[in-house]
Amino acid sequence: MHVFRLRGDFTTLDVYTAALFELGARGLEEKPGEVWAYFPERIELPLPGEWVELPDTDWIEAYKRDLKPVQAGPFVVLAPWHQWEGEEQRIRIEPGMAFGTGHHETTRMALETLAQRIEPDMRVLDLGTGSGILAIGAALLGAEVVGVDIDPAVIPQAQENARLNNVQIRFLLGSLEDVEGPVDLVVANLFAELHAYLAGSYRQIFGVCGTLILTGILLEREHIVRQALEAHSFGLLQRRQEGEWVCLTYAAV
Ligand code: SAM
Repeated sequence: MHVFRLRGDFTTLDVYTAALFELGARGLEEKPGEVWAYFPERIELPLPGEWVELPDTDWIEAYKRDLKPVQAGPFVVLAPWHQWEGEEQRIRIEPGMAFGTGHHETTRMALETLAQRIEPDMRVLDLGTGSGILAIGAALLGAEVVGVDIDPAVIPQAQENARLNNVQIRFLLGSLEDVEGPVDLVVANLFAELHAYLAGSYRQIFGVCGTLILTGILLEREHIVRQALEAHSFGLLQRRQEGEWVCLTYAAV
């Protein structure tokens, strides 16, 4: 996998973000002090940073090593080989290349928030589904779920994880504009600048009203999301924080 590690002054990150997608980035991951942009091949980039190669197999092994069950709200997230005696609702995830084993703060906060907000038969969109973990959690709570991701590599993994959990979920390759609304609830674990960029589109995917759960937001970038969402008349219902990560829940009215 080819990764461009973008460093520098991130006050201009929103400009870089749009440029990186236009230049063919398949996904961006925000890390403290830098952004990793995933490309199918190396290209000439006039931006401050460096290329690194991530061997896919090493990531898979790294995920599998030392993996422990994770509790989040009414759920416990388990690898297929884990045993669990507790009462929690089990989500089984095969650790692989896709993000979403439940070990990240953002995934856990999103799962806990979903459990508070979902009612049976709601139409739910999981935007940036990765391993499918949030989509599976929503389906186990009785929702009708669509999971979407721009990375073609994760779709078969999400499908396999849904099968492991005996839930029916429709997974699509694409992004918000590829989903036919209306939906009742959107959960999106992306990053601050992308949430701000999508604020208007989030509003359009709902019918009369709806619930929007946004995470992947670093504390220092929270204001970017809040400004953009308020500008599109979303009302903040709940704010959670774990470490440097924030999860914001909005009502679309
Ligand atoms: N939903 C999982 C979770 O909460 O653990 C995975 C979240 S992971 C941080 C973000 C995912 O969003 C990645 O799988 C990435 O490919 C996808 N993604 C990034 N930009 C996207 C976009 N514009 N539209 C749809 N998916 C996107």
